[in-house]
Amino acid sequence: MTYEKSLQRVKEISTELSYIRAINALFMWDQWMGLPKEGNEYRQKLQGYVVGKSSEILNSSETKELAKYFSKIDLDTIENDIDKAVIRTFLHKFNYSVNVPVEKNKRLAELSLEAQNAWIKALNEKNYSIFKPYLKELFELRLEISKYIDPNRPPFEVMMDESGEGICLEEVNREFSKLREAIIELVPKITKSTVEIDDSFLKQSFDKDELISFVKFIVEKMGYDINKGAYGEVIHPFTNMFGPKDVRITLNCKSYKFGVFAAIHEAGHAMYGFRGNKEVDEAQLWGGIMGGFHEGQSRFHENIIGKSKEFWQYFYPEAQKRFKQFENVSFDDYYNAINKVQPSLSRILADEVTYSLHPIIRFELEQELIDGKINFDELPQAWNDKYYEYLGIRPENDAEGVLQDIHWSAGMVGYFQSYTLGNIYGGQIRNTLLKAVPNVYDEIAKGNFDPFNNWMTENIHQYGECYTASEIIKRISGESLNADYFIDYLNEKYNSIYKLK
Ligand SMILES: [Zn+2]
Repeated sequence: MTYEKSLQRVKEISTELSYIRAINALFMWDQWMGLPKEGNEYRQKLQGYVVGKSSEILNSSETKELAKYFSKIDLDTIENDIDKAVIRTFLHKFNYSVNVPVEKNKRLAELSLEAQNAWIKALNEKNYSIFKPYLKELFELRLEISKYIDPNRPPFEVMMDESGEGICLEEVNREFSKLREAIIELVPKITKSTVEIDDSFLKQSFDKDELISFVKFIVEKMGYDINKGAYGEVIHPFTNMFGPKDVRITLNCKSYKFGVFAAIHEAGHAMYGFRGNKEVDEAQLWGGIMGGFHEGQSRFHENIIGKSKEFWQYFYPEAQKRFKQFENVSFDDYYNAINKVQPSLSRILADEVTYSLHPIIRFELEQELIDGKINFDELPQAWNDKYYEYLGIRPENDAEGVLQDIHWSAGMVGYFQSYTLGNIYGGQIRNTLLKAVPNVYDEIAKGNFDPFNNWMTENIHQYGECYTASEIIKRISGESLNADYFIDYLNEKYNSIYKLK
């Protein structure tokens, strides 16, 4: 087969795989939104059928031929960026599925279910030893699988790069250390500051329907286009992508702060998802770069924009009009309250400053386990020690510590760094954005999101998955991963809120 013909086939195969991905996403949405209990059994079969099609395509002799053919080509010699990305993402999908023996993947799926059940029991009994054997086997299996995927890269880096964002372990370790030190230095200054922030008014009860209407008002004003999106309501907010111009978010408005900022977060994922250009959409590169970079987009909207002074200069009068809870709350008190820093044991509840430490802790422990620096018996103690060392607080039991989160039990090892990586990307993007559009925040204060959205679309969103995260951050900022900008941003913002200088 010629290069052109092979490329054409890869494009057709990628299209089929993308259709299957979208069908699966629809299944998931329906599972949360409408699937009745007794419909579940048949649905499982449907889902199994569809997933089977995808693995049939990936395992076909033609796909194997094509993967072999393109593995020998140096991708950097391909001039057309779209073609290059189509081949890169095709090979990535291939390597992460076909190279792994079927029985290993099967065991991983079974083990994840077993581990989740054990985790729930362990969490209820606050007893890590129930979960320990499953966790150990999960780590060992993931390690083994990584060696099948790419024996030439560090196994942990292979796990981290499942998203395909082009991560380099060494680079991440270097930047995480810098960020960790900077936050560890900043937090005690904040906790010792004389500024005391009262955020009790945020914890009052709010009418759920009023709150939903307010968060819709916010995200639509920000650019969440309901011709390309929709809303659902669930316990844990998420974003689901069904097509290049169909990306929907879910809301949970049981409390004010969580309701508002989770919605902005998910809308950030969604806007990134549906803003691919025509070529990107047609090549099935829509949806954006997964992993840390996507998280970076959602966190950028949630925090760097959504918790800024200018953002609320526009939205707070509206909030005051809608909610009597804010009747006697000044703008400054509100702004400080949404940005209050308080070290906690859980990432979900964390503020913008301490947030990054939670993924860093888990990321460090994962590597220590894999390198054999600590063993699975020592893990809970190591976890608690790190929390004490970095955040100054110590979990009282396993449930508050090592068992607090579902990720590990779901088999996700080498994933947690995404959340902190997202913050680092955000710092770099902010710095570049401010140079290119110096009045971007002033316009947001007037309710004009166009300059912001135009820049984001033009420089990031339109490209979908066309570039890896490492490539795009270099394209826009001229630099590789660099935590300095996020550190400067945190210091600047929180020195001002807590009057540290
Ligand atoms: Zn997210």
